[in-house]
Amino acid sequence: MSSFSNAFDVSKHPHRRYNPLLREWILVSPHRTQRPWQGQVESIAAKSEVSYDPACYMCPGNKRSTGAANPNYKNVFVFDNDFPALMPDTPGGKINRDNLLIAETESGICRVLCFSPKHHLTLSMMEPADIRSVVDCWAEQFRELGSKPEIQYVQIFENRGALMGASNPHPHCQIWSTASVPNIPKTEQESQKEYLTGKKSCLLCDYFKIEESDRSRIVAGNEHFLAVVPFWAVWPFETMILSKRHVAAIDELASEEREALGDVLKKLTTRYDNLFHASFPYSMGFHQRPTDGDSHPEWHFHAHFFPPLLRSATVRKFMVGFELLGMPQRDITPETSADRLRAVSDSRHEF
Ligand SMILES: [Zn+2]
Ligand SMILES: [Zn+2]
Ligand SMILES: [Zn+2]
Repeated sequence: MSSFSNAFDVSKHPHRRYNPLLREWILVSPHRTQRPWQGQVESIAAKSEVSYDPACYMCPGNKRSTGAANPNYKNVFVFDNDFPALMPDTPGGKINRDNLLIAETESGICRVLCFSPKHHLTLSMMEPADIRSVVDCWAEQFRELGSKPEIQYVQIFENRGALMGASNPHPHCQIWSTASVPNIPKTEQESQKEYLTGKKSCLLCDYFKIEESDRSRIVAGNEHFLAVVPFWAVWPFETMILSKRHVAAIDELASEEREALGDVLKKLTTRYDNLFHASFPYSMGFHQRPTDGDSHPEWHFHAHFFPPLLRSATVRKFMVGFELLGMPQRDITPETSADRLRAVSDSRHEF
């Protein structure tokens, strides 16, 4: 942290941090954690051990609400969401009343991707070869959906755990592809574009190099990827996975990079599980170039993990009060979060 003045200690003094992707500030209050850690560590005994659930609409061979039956799939399985948030055949339409009430229709395609036929697995417990099948499927889906002229953006995301509103433990993600670029990737795109124009280099390539040399926020990594608690993280154990090579989207990853992405995902999610001795809930997803036909040299492929837990498997962070009205706030510093994640195993479950 050589760039800070001697008087300013990021581990002690309240400060705000700028997120150059979102152009937002985040308030960090490390002094509030100087009391000893009092959060208890709880073991959640009720881990699902059932590899097949006859009532699950994602398990192989089962019927879904539409009456369609799932095939007896062996690794991954993709189907159109039976209750999609977006429909491909939505008619175009706009309203604009005095530039105050503005709306336009949005169309899209929503799919579900099952990671495994085994109902009880999580990414952290899957074999590397099986995670590799998931990575390949993400790349195929991105390419296929993105090649449709009406689709401008493909958002792949996973909600894991009941705390994140995922009612079904079957390992899966969703893929929502839309006719417009959603807010957050759009903001990130503008930031990356401006950085590239001004500096003639990539924002996240430059950030990768800082994290690689600093090391204090690295949680997991390999030859091709780093998982870090970003300097500007909002959630207590938020992380970002960054590719070392500048690629704009997942389908550009070479074979060994796809394997390495699976490896870093497994290491990170294993550390997460070990942190509070429980299957760790999170929302995760990839950010990559829009599929609007432009080449997007500014875009650097990455993933975000947003876990809600704060102190234990049962104590979560809430975004309320000042955070809803002012700006996000955290107590534990990103560096301390990274220390805690590095202190547990990335290769075996410790519970
Ligand atoms: Zn299932
Ligand atoms: Zn880059
Ligand atoms: Zn992003």
